[in-house]
Amino acid sequence: MSDAESKSLNFLEEIVEGDLQSGKHGGRVLTRFPPEPNGYLHIGHAKSICLNFGLGLKYGGGTNLRFDDTNPTKEEQEYVDSIEADVHWLGFEWKARYFASDYFQKLYDFAEYLITQGKAYVCDLTDEQTREYRGNFHTPGKPSPFRDRSVAENLDLFHRMKAGEFADGTRVLRAKIDVNAGNMNLRDPLMYRIRHAHHHRTGDAWCIYPMYDFAHPVSDAIEGITHSICTLEFEDHKPLYDWFLEQDVEAKFFQKPLPRQYEFARLNVTTTMMSKRRLLLLVEEGHVTGWDDPRMPTLSGLRRRGVTPEAVRAFAERVGVARRDATVDMGLLDLSIREDLEARCDRRMAVIRPLKVTVTNLAEGEIHWIELPNHPDAGRGTRKVPFGRELYVDREDFMEVPAKKWFRLAPGAEVRLRGACYLRCEKVVKDASGEVVELRCTWDPATLGGEAPDGRKVKGTLHWVSATHAVRAEVRLYDRLFTVDDPMDVPEGGDWRGTLNPASLDVVQAALEPSLGEAKAGERFQFERTGYFAVDADSKPGALVFNRTVGLKDSWAKVEAKA
Ligand code: ATP
Ligand code: MG
Repeated sequence: MSDAESKSLNFLEEIVEGDLQSGKHGGRVLTRFPPEPNGYLHIGHAKSICLNFGLGLKYGGGTNLRFDDTNPTKEEQEYVDSIEADVHWLGFEWKARYFASDYFQKLYDFAEYLITQGKAYVCDLTDEQTREYRGNFHTPGKPSPFRDRSVAENLDLFHRMKAGEFADGTRVLRAKIDVNAGNMNLRDPLMYRIRHAHHHRTGDAWCIYPMYDFAHPVSDAIEGITHSICTLEFEDHKPLYDWFLEQDVEAKFFQKPLPRQYEFARLNVTTTMMSKRRLLLLVEEGHVTGWDDPRMPTLSGLRRRGVTPEAVRAFAERVGVARRDATVDMGLLDLSIREDLEARCDRRMAVIRPLKVTVTNLAEGEIHWIELPNHPDAGRGTRKVPFGRELYVDREDFMEVPAKKWFRLAPGAEVRLRGACYLRCEKVVKDASGEVVELRCTWDPATLGGEAPDGRKVKGTLHWVSATHAVRAEVRLYDRLFTVDDPMDVPEGGDWRGTLNPASLDVVQAALEPSLGEAKAGERFQFERTGYFAVDADSKPGALVFNRTVGLKDSWAKVEAKA
């Protein structure tokens, strides 16, 4: 391989290629994506999915989808279904689908084996006592008074734990490693706890449940995973991951070579949160309408907003694979979405905040049908848009007292109506409260479909729709869900809820060009000069609903910001 090629590999690809060359896993690559079914997937999971499935695809081995369902009280079938749908939507197919709960018996057998090897014991300390005995980084740990129970006693107690003889929290099974290890994770970690709870798949068959640190390596090994990729916070757990698997000294449980864990930086994105637990709170407390609220960083929220899987994958690619945690600006996701939609979406005219325009020198009933291209790529066809005496333009395109460099409508100013003609604002009509309610304008018929024959120029081009033909639609304008980059970074005593953006949703009644009247749920358009919009699932014929997927960059906002 040339230098240039090897440089373009991320560090995980380098590891995988190294292993393929050395034949470490017999030339095999098998990765897994292991979500806990306790919520909907978010954009951080998308990063992990693209990484794991990407490696599986690139090196021909595939990727398992494994539901890490070892925590019975938080897991539900609804989440399992949504996770499968989201992985498929992102464009990936798993090699096999498993549940950690499929391995409850094997995990139990292996735990029993560890007991017989003197490597695990039943401990009766309370949670609080366990913490105290374990010490901390500065305080050495003390052995539990139950650490030297005989194998026979441990086996008996473990069997009785499983049989349901003991109450929640009264006993645990612990690995017997090193009460004084520098790495806290090795100070006799918990393997099993008692939890008399109904499990979404195994029902009431079990009342003891394995801990993540025990279940995860064992599940990986059972499936023959080669590269087990997780986020950086598990780096300190790696010695434990290896320890459990290495205790299979007689190779009775797992095939060699054993899976290896590798860590990468988790994805954080500004103005949102990447935690199913917290996202669940947003849903439960009604700060959003559901897991698929378009303001949510969930894949179902992004999908509903109109984002495509290609845009999410491009974003994941752009973020790259790093070994140090960093926060990515939400603007980068917006950019990936915009780039993807640019080529994909046909253009339409839609006036978000309609302001009435009367073209006084155009006769009542005089309609010019103007042919407009659907996209700058010729090939994409055209459609006809009516132009008549009654129009709408956007309120944001009018300034009664124009600022410097304002090239849009203002008293006396002339602009171009996109595809139609030059239009001059002659008179401003206000209501009793002083609000501008109508612009009386004149058009120059000589400019129909082109430039002025006398050579005069206008700088501003506005979008518009015929008021008589306009289709009304509800348009949901979404903004950032939080007002600060890191909503969780609140001062002592503060509440992250205080950083929710009260203006994250603005619902307006827009006026659309008539060709949009037939738009179907899921269809996407660029509304010229405004942004990308998708028809919402709530939309019905005669009661259209559009979501703003992402705005276009507003050139005036930039001019203003510089001033
Ligand atoms: P959450 O706190 O949102 O529940 P989690 O890590 O507990 O996140 P899991 O369902 O256990 O969620 O995650 C499944 C996989 O997705 C794991 O391998 C995890 O490392 C990965 N993952 C989760 N969040 C992120 C993130 N923000 N960036 C990258 N990978 C992530
Ligand atoms: Mg989790």
